[in-house]
Amino acid sequence: MAEPRPISRRDFLRTTAGAGAALSLAEALPGPTAFAAAVAPAARYPAPTWADRPMRWAQLTLVEDDPGRFNPGFWLDYFQRVRADAACLSAGGCVAFYPTRIPYHHRSAWLGDRDPFGDLVRGCRERGLVVAARTDPHALWPDAAAAHPEWVAVGADGKPRRHWASPDLWVACGLGPYNFDQLTAIHREIMTRYRPDAIFINRWSGSGMCWCASCRENFRAFAHADLPRTTDPRDPAYRQYLVWRQRRLFELWQRWEGAVRAINPDACVVPNTGGGALSDLDMRETGERAAMLAADRQARRGLMAPWANGKSAKEYRAALGRKPVIGIFSVGFEEPERWKDSVQREPEMRLWALEGIANGMRPWFTKFSGTLHDERWLKPVERLYEWLQQNERYLRNEAPLARVGVVYSQQTAWFVGGERARETVEDAALGVYQALVEARIPFEMVHDRLLDADHLGAFRLLILPNIAALSDGQCAQLRAFVAAGGGLLATSETSLYDETGARRTDFGLADLFGASFAGRVEGPMHNSYLRLHHAAAGADESPLLRGLEDAPRIINGVWRVDVTTTAALPATPVTLIPSYPDLPMEEVYPRGERPDKPQVFLREVGAGRVAYFPWDIDRTYWEVLAEDHGVLLRNAIAWALNEAPPVIVTGPGVLDVTCWRQAASVTVHLVNLTNPMLMKGPVREFLPVGAQEVRLRLPPGRTPAGVRLLVADREPEFSVADGVLTVLVPSVLDHEMVAVDV
Ligand SMILES: [Zn+2]
Repeated sequence: MAEPRPISRRDFLRTTAGAGAALSLAEALPGPTAFAAAVAPAARYPAPTWADRPMRWAQLTLVEDDPGRFNPGFWLDYFQRVRADAACLSAGGCVAFYPTRIPYHHRSAWLGDRDPFGDLVRGCRERGLVVAARTDPHALWPDAAAAHPEWVAVGADGKPRRHWASPDLWVACGLGPYNFDQLTAIHREIMTRYRPDAIFINRWSGSGMCWCASCRENFRAFAHADLPRTTDPRDPAYRQYLVWRQRRLFELWQRWEGAVRAINPDACVVPNTGGGALSDLDMRETGERAAMLAADRQARRGLMAPWANGKSAKEYRAALGRKPVIGIFSVGFEEPERWKDSVQREPEMRLWALEGIANGMRPWFTKFSGTLHDERWLKPVERLYEWLQQNERYLRNEAPLARVGVVYSQQTAWFVGGERARETVEDAALGVYQALVEARIPFEMVHDRLLDADHLGAFRLLILPNIAALSDGQCAQLRAFVAAGGGLLATSETSLYDETGARRTDFGLADLFGASFAGRVEGPMHNSYLRLHHAAAGADESPLLRGLEDAPRIINGVWRVDVTTTAALPATPVTLIPSYPDLPMEEVYPRGERPDKPQVFLREVGAGRVAYFPWDIDRTYWEVLAEDHGVLLRNAIAWALNEAPPVIVTGPGVLDVTCWRQAASVTVHLVNLTNPMLMKGPVREFLPVGAQEVRLRLPPGRTPAGVRLLVADREPEFSVADGVLTVLVPSVLDHEMVAVDV
């Protein structure tokens, strides 16, 4: 949760008003309607005709000494053996793996008269694969840097930047003539000579802020200011930078798309970009431009649950809708030390990939170096892809059946979270995500700039985990959602800021919450608690406190938004026990309890239900994982949802449950996360969970024509009553998929 911000909207307007630029503030900052005006107007291209075909991607990233040493025939055979239907192959950019004629497009020193890229393209074509050519424009060779110093990125010290990992090379500016001119020429050459179906561009968006002449001049023309020397979102120039950089990148994307489509109208570019709240290119605009995207989340690292890959799938889908979301997974470790030639053992690699697949991703394995140093990954990928091909028709999803949406907000991360966005914005989302996985409730992620009725039509409940920055228009959309009978669960500072990060005097959604901002955020609080007010004997317990009947009080969160109650609440089952000293121990006794301070607001608003937590239950849940908070969250979700989930899975363990509709079937994925390595990989082995009862609400009027467990590969016991199919899954090792033909 953020501290109060010293900058007001008025300060911000004053600072930028002198600009006199063509863009007004409203245009320059990405409000829900204004962002498109600030970025380059995009020519909208149709999706290539082949775009929806590939279900299993393969990527071979060549290294410079591969030509003449690696065996293209081995790779082509392997692509075929794993039933890949698309391949991404290294073409150029940093190193050309074909005989380029473009000056300063560095040919591999081992290339000779070979054309390994061309050989691989031809082989893939013969085998019926879709082909994407990979380029990487982030590094420059010394001869190019000497001839074109304007291509080199410049640091804050005004000096050209050497490459951090390969000091003989230079870092390329991502926003200047190298990308706009040289890479455009390279993309034209590749498309003209080989006609690949797509060009996938890696590391294309620059490597940090650049102070080259081009960047300085372009920024000045946009913002009438010098490039910022800070990454503080309260700094007006930095806010302008966030918008300007995106504008340049969307212009660049458009330039490449136009160049490629002019040569091959059925091709597209696939910039390596996208993600959740912490990603730096607006996902709404990205989703509109892209024919497909590949989520580059190759493996987990550090403390991370396997469901992080599923989350990524949901974040991309929020912006892409039905366009393909591809999940890049690595066969190696993905830690900061970057063991790029490493090989993970099968369980971890498999669990990560399965999490993506169960959440709607089409897998894309990536391998660096055509010469293999360790072959242990070959069979595991083959085993996974073979099963995927056999069950392809049950993996061609048309829509998720989830009724819960978790909103994510890039504008909150950019303009309110800033450098603390991971803890103030993302950790809240992670807490909600973990709680929903544990509750086994299928859900989707929702982009905060896609809250129109069309995008929300499938949802019954929206969760806003500290979505601090919301415009008046976005608040109106949420209000309309509730008015139409939807549920809303919000936490902390949700709607306390506008879309530019300027703090309001009160929540934009105060009327829904039944609470007003009292001017103060308290925290980090030590040793604060919540009083639970249980029903008198014989009366019904509050739906919020089920499972907490024996608890007089539970721990509080860490950050609390002080609020005043503005609407009559039917009940106040949870109130504040303020922070009291935690040392010396003699002083550790509660005092000043505040029964007048509700800490959960449950309200029926018209036909909808609203639950508001004026504290960081979500973020604290991610930090502490206290089950009391988990119970409270699950109860609030169930109350605000006010209907049964589409599928209810009962049994032991931690399962990620997802539910999908295909053309002629409905599927339920159960990914078994029950493992001592749930929160930190790598998984050593899979540990089977016992019997799970799956109760699936069938589409209205449909009866199941057949039910199959696609992993166990057999027909299970099942029954149908009142439109609900009940299936018994005897056990789940890593993954099970209940497929119901309807
Ligand atoms: Zn630059």
